[in-house]
Amino acid sequence: MAFRDDVFSRARGRCQCTMKRCSHHTGRCNAMLRGDWEIHRVMTGGSYTLSNVKAMCQKCHRNTPRYGCGKR
Ligand SMILES: [Zn+2]
Ligand SMILES: [Zn+2]
Repeated sequence: MAFRDDVFSRARGRCQCTMKRCSHHTGRCNAMLRGDWEIHRVMTGGSYTLSNVKAMCQKCHRNTPRYGCGKR
């Protein structure tokens, strides 16, 4: 899927999560994204556009408040 490729290259192949709620990283996560990384929408219910998404490793995505909502 081309959009996923765009998100991946913008993130430079690394997790873009900066959530303080994650206990496994401080600042940006930067985990290598391979295989099962996920697209997180910044605004829940917002559209899948580059300005509204972040590439996240699964570990971080599970920490998002609305995980599973509109997931694809
Ligand atoms: Zn991460
Ligand atoms: Zn995180």
